[in-house]
Order: sequence, then C-alpha cells, then structure tokens
Amino acid sequence: MAYEFGCPTAGSDCSWKVAGATEEAVMAKVADHARKVHKVKTPTGTIMSYLRSTLKQV
Ligand SMILES: [Zn+2]
Repeated sequence: MAYEFGCPTAGSDCSWKVAGATEEAVMAKVADHARKVHKVKTPTGTIMSYLRSTLKQV
C-alpha cells in the first residue's frame, strides 16, 4: 500500500505528482514542493489538511 498525491487532484494547474509508503512521507514532500514551486512560505495546518484529504491510496 502506498499513498499518492497529485497537484491536479488538489485543483492546481501544476502536473506534479509524488508517491510514498506513508502519509507522513508524502506530506513532507508535498510541503517541500508547496514551498519551492507554489511559493507557500509556511504550509499551514489548514492547507496541509486539505492537501492530505486529496491523497489517494494506490
Ligand atoms: Zn505543484
């Protein structure tokens, strides 16, 4: 079982995707991507919990 996140799933024009073994591993990469690419300086709890809700189990 793995978790997959995709920016398109979260409603972004960006086509970036990432997968990982645990939600935490994926969300750490998502936070990093949000900072670097989407200029989210501080990924807050609200944003991160929304993004987490778009995770898919693959
Ligand atoms: Zn993105």
